[in-house]
Amino acid sequence: MREADRLITVLTPNLGKLPVTVRGARRITSRLGGHLDVFNHVHVTLALGHHVDVVTGAESMESFGTLKADLDRLATGLYLMELADALLPDASPHPGAYTLLLDALRALDRGEPLDGVARYTELRLLEDSGYMPALGNCQVCGTAIVAEHHRFAPGLGGVVDDTCSVPMGQVLSLSVNALKVLRHYHRTPMVDAVQVGLSPAIRDELERILGVSIHYVLEREMATADFVDHLKKLRSRASA
Ligand SMILES: [Zn+2]
Repeated sequence: MREADRLITVLTPNLGKLPVTVRGARRITSRLGGHLDVFNHVHVTLALGHHVDVVTGAESMESFGTLKADLDRLATGLYLMELADALLPDASPHPGAYTLLLDALRALDRGEPLDGVARYTELRLLEDSGYMPALGNCQVCGTAIVAEHHRFAPGLGGVVDDTCSVPMGQVLSLSVNALKVLRHYHRTPMVDAVQVGLSPAIRDELERILGVSIHYVLEREMATADFVDHLKKLRSRASA
């Protein structure tokens, strides 16, 4: 790469996550640089490169100005993008994640509740990458979960009833209302799901449950400890 070039990551609807080179992006006169600002929804033209494809054209369709002008919204958006980057492998189609992130950016730009957008996107990103927390049956004995008799075991990937013992790992309490919100998120489009009002207690609970679930997945499957730490910091900044 030349000094003025920039390596960026794009998420595409059909090819998944791709690293691409933008020639001369660091020059002030760059024709492409401005269109490829972080978060932008862009139409790009790529030329096949030896190792990394090269952007030959870019036209921004949505740039989410309201989101970018608000520090809290910006922090949440950055966190969700980095989380997606961590969960999604390179060059593997994830059209669900693409739509989800676009919906999340639009929701943040429209001023929808930050917590709702963040928790919803976390849950659905876990689902899209194959780590949807189980919410229906005990992850030890398989019995259907009965209201008020449930806990959450991130190491087992979901809910457990209150009679089974969990052989190892952490067990968190899970209230019936938090479980209802998670199930609602699972089957409802974002635009409706984020309208659900969350009490401070439920907000904290969802943040904890999803945070621990993400931590388990990243630590077990892919990310370095440093990166998991970095993500945790971004997340706490986003919810501060
Ligand atoms: Zn059980």
